[in-house]
Formats: sequence, C-alpha cells, structure tokens
Amino acid sequence: MKIVMLGPPGAGKGTYASRLTVKLGVPHISTGDMVRDEIKKQTELGRRIKEYSDRGALVPDEIIIKLLAERLKKPDCDGGFILDGFPRTIRQAEALEKIAKIDLVINLNVPDEIIITRLSNRLICRECGAIYNLLTLKPKRDRICDKCGGPLYQREDDRPEVIKERLDVYRRQTEPLIEYYERKGLLRNVSCNDLMTPPEVMIERIIEIIEEKKRSS
Ligand code: AMP
Repeated sequence: MKIVMLGPPGAGKGTYASRLTVKLGVPHISTGDMVRDEIKKQTELGRRIKEYSDRGALVPDEIIIKLLAERLKKPDCDGGFILDGFPRTIRQAEALEKIAKIDLVINLNVPDEIIITRLSNRLICRECGAIYNLLTLKPKRDRICDKCGGPLYQREDDRPEVIKERLDVYRRQTEPLIEYYERKGLLRNVSCNDLMTPPEVMIERIIEIIEEKKRSS
C-alpha cells in the first residue's frame, strides 16, 4: 500500500511512520531525513538546502521532487511505501501523482499547543534519525539512542523561533493538501488531543484505517 502521512511538523508523522514501516513491511520515506542526510554529507546540494531547512522554509519544489522521484525508483518501493513529509505543496502532490498511485492519506490533527511542546522537547539521533521526546518518549540513557547508541541532538529547526515559522509555512503551503486529497476520496483523519497519548495507541488507530482501506479495495 502507498500511504502519505500528512500533518503539521510535530504531529507525529515520523514517529508513527517509523513504527508502521516495521508492521507493514514497506519502507518509510522521510524527505526531512533525506534533506538532513544531504546536509550531513556536505554535498553542494546539501549546502544549498541547509539555508532553507535551518530557517524553517521549504526546500524548492524542483529539488525535493527530484530527490523523492529518485528514491521511489528503488526496488524496495515496488510493494508500497509510507511517505513522511512529502508532499508539502500542491505542486509536489501533482508531481507525485505522475510517479505513483497513492492509496491512502492519513491526516494527523494535533493542536498547536501540543506541537510546540513536542517539538521543543524533541531529540533526534545523529546516526540513525530515531526520534525521542524528553516528556513522552525518553531515551533509556541520557542523550544516547536506544537503537544504535548514537548521540541525540536537538534539530536546528526545533528552536522556538523556527517552530513558529514552520507552523506558518505549514498553514500557508501544506494545509491546502487536506482539501486536495479529501476531494480525491483518499483522506482519513486521525486526531491526537492529549500530549501523553502513547504512540502505540495512535498506531493502532492508523492500522485500523489501513485494514479498512484494504478490505474496501
Ligand atoms: P521534516 O523533518 O519533515 O520536518 O523536514 C525538515 C525540513 O526539510 C523542512 O523544514 C524543509 O526545509 C525540508 N523538507 C522536508 N520535506 C520537504 C518537502 N516535501 N518540501 C520542501 N522542503 C522539505
């Protein structure tokens, strides 16, 4: 199944997608991780996109569409995938349509207060990209990744002043996708109104939606 996870930054797209990938046996493709990888490798492209990412702006469509299109050509995507952080503009959604037929779009509804608290307390593994949260999803050892032992850090764009910009960008450029996919009959909403709701509870809800979709198609 080809799934898109939609929702504002900090809604849980990456946290849920990284667990769903194991349960569904399809790759989790995060364009944010791809952007951070490129920056880490210090390629020419990495240097160009860092300036966008650091200030919470979107990387230009043509760059990100090209990166994603290349990734989706890999054979592990043949049986489906979970997209996290793509598409983020109508133009990206239209480009995606030409590359793959999306089966389901999960839209995560989360109030701004929860998002801001979550992002301010989020830590990421520098080695494997695993996501932690100092309030709700603590690592076992201080600032060390449970999965690979790598060091945890706060993302440059999870600083309070950048979070506000990212939420504005989401409202302006990404939110119109909700209506776009609703019209296509692909959208399913999942709400989280409590900061302390464990990821497992949300994942159960998402899996129910996926099962229902499978039964009806
Ligand atoms: P994320 O980890 O999904 O929050 O993405 C981190 C940053 O990478 C974003 O703030 C953007 O600068 C960039 N990025 C990731 N995905 C996209 C996309 N689909 N379109 C444009 N920029 C993106």
